[in-house]
Amino acid sequence: MYKKIDKEIIKKLERVVGERLICDPKKMYDYMGDEFADPSLKKTPEVVVQPKNTKEIADVLKLANEENIPVTPRGGGTGLCGGCVPLYGGIVLSLEKMNRVLEIDRNNMLAVVEAGVTLSDFYAEVEKAGLFFPPHPGEEGAQFGGLVSTNASGARAVKYGGIRNYIKGLEVVLPQGEAVTMGGKYMKSSTGYSLLNLIIGSEGTLGVITKAIISLLPKSPVVYTLIVPYDSLDDAITAVPEIRKKVLPLAVEFIESDVIPPTEDLLNKTWPCKGNAYLMIIVDGTSEEEVLGISEAIANICIKHNVRSLDDIAFADTKEKQQNILDIRSNIYSALKRGTIEILDITVPPARIVEYMAKVHEISAKYDTWLPTYGHAADGNVHTHLMKVGTKDGKLDEKETNGWEDKYPPARRELHEEAKKLGGIVSGEHGIGLSKMEYLPVFVESTQIELMKGIKKLFDPNNILNPGKIFCMGFNIS
Ligand SMILES: Cc1cc2nc3c(=O)[nH]c(=O)nc-3n(C[C@H](O)[C@H](O)[C@H](O)COP(=O)(O)OP(=O)(O)OC[C@H]3O[C@@H](n4cnc5c(N)ncnc54)[C@H](O)[C@@H]3O)c2cc1C
Repeated sequence: MYKKIDKEIIKKLERVVGERLICDPKKMYDYMGDEFADPSLKKTPEVVVQPKNTKEIADVLKLANEENIPVTPRGGGTGLCGGCVPLYGGIVLSLEKMNRVLEIDRNNMLAVVEAGVTLSDFYAEVEKAGLFFPPHPGEEGAQFGGLVSTNASGARAVKYGGIRNYIKGLEVVLPQGEAVTMGGKYMKSSTGYSLLNLIIGSEGTLGVITKAIISLLPKSPVVYTLIVPYDSLDDAITAVPEIRKKVLPLAVEFIESDVIPPTEDLLNKTWPCKGNAYLMIIVDGTSEEEVLGISEAIANICIKHNVRSLDDIAFADTKEKQQNILDIRSNIYSALKRGTIEILDITVPPARIVEYMAKVHEISAKYDTWLPTYGHAADGNVHTHLMKVGTKDGKLDEKETNGWEDKYPPARRELHEEAKKLGGIVSGEHGIGLSKMEYLPVFVESTQIELMKGIKKLFDPNNILNPGKIFCMGFNIS
């Protein structure tokens, strides 16, 4: 059993973090869980600490390890699978006070940040320096510690890859309280096992990330966004491999039209064209001519795939128009959240999205349940919402669908079974956390899971760091 936090422990924690500590449960609402829609995936911690440097984090972990108290690292709380839920109470270790961009190193095209820096603050600093950080996970309140821990990705991964491709170094505090530096300001390393890459995607179970060294790129001066409307989703998706054979866009998203009106409503903004399904394609380049040429090549492919004419395609060539589109795309989750039970993160081989989407529609009809879907078309990463409501006149129905509690488990299971048959995986970018744990053994063979458990045991022999996430180690490791 883990030790309960008593007054003695609170006093010891106060000696480390001073007043940056919350132990009134009424003030802990924001630390109970993440953006996962189902409130049953929330838990009140016994205490929240907000350290402001690596030494304080090391001291908190040392104490927790000695006293056998669970610690849940927490970033922006924007995760979608319950990763930062303090399942066994204990300490929530929030990185919010470690929010400084420490350095923009223009000569090496690198940035050094504390783990609590948010994406939005980071983009602003990078923009000021005239540089570019390609990954764009949809929620800019996410912090670097969380982004690295989930190996987040987002729409722009098609051309530039996800967070993993940009992390060159990490400072990590291990569960016993020792701070170590993995990687550094260099671009290559063939120097033993890559512990750096092991920490990326480890969901706060192996160590607490305190700093990150991030590589940056030169900024592409010209960016266009195209919205291509289709009568059928199949036409939209079958165009994608052809586009990719010709050009490599920054992003290729697919969107079923039923998610647009609730999002327009939420933001009071207007999507630029009308269809049953859309491709949102972002292209970048060094000159207007280059980007126009790429856009034209894409438009011609889309026309072959049943877009009626060039006039149907919306070209967003200004920052304002592009931001309007990006805002709508990024807020689909928020617009649907009220009726969402869970958002899935299934990823199939890109050329099999059409088959997977046919199954989504079949399962939706079979259970008479709304399964709005959109995603990263060129990556095969498909986000289906399992809903407890339908739509009515472009809005979320106020009434919950009859029997959604009975429909949700089999519909969810069948969607995962179909993904598995198509050679897919349970999570492309959100992580396993708490909500997807039951599917890890379905998609990953037991030998690999045993290796993962062995690694966890080596890093965290007392199982104090984010216990009960990714896989079950038993309550405490024996
Ligand atoms: C509207 C919306 C859109 C989204 N779009 C995308 C998208 O396009 N692509 C995508 O990949 N994700 C997306 N997400 C999911 C989410 O933003 C990412 O998972 C993000 O990486 C979580 O970061 P966070 O700081 O909020 O982490 P949290 O939710 O606080 O935590 C996530 C995990 O990281 C661990 N953790 C946090 N900080 C640390 C640390 N310093 N050290 C060790 N472990 C730590 C936590 O314990 C937990 O396991 C979206 C979410 C929302 C709400």
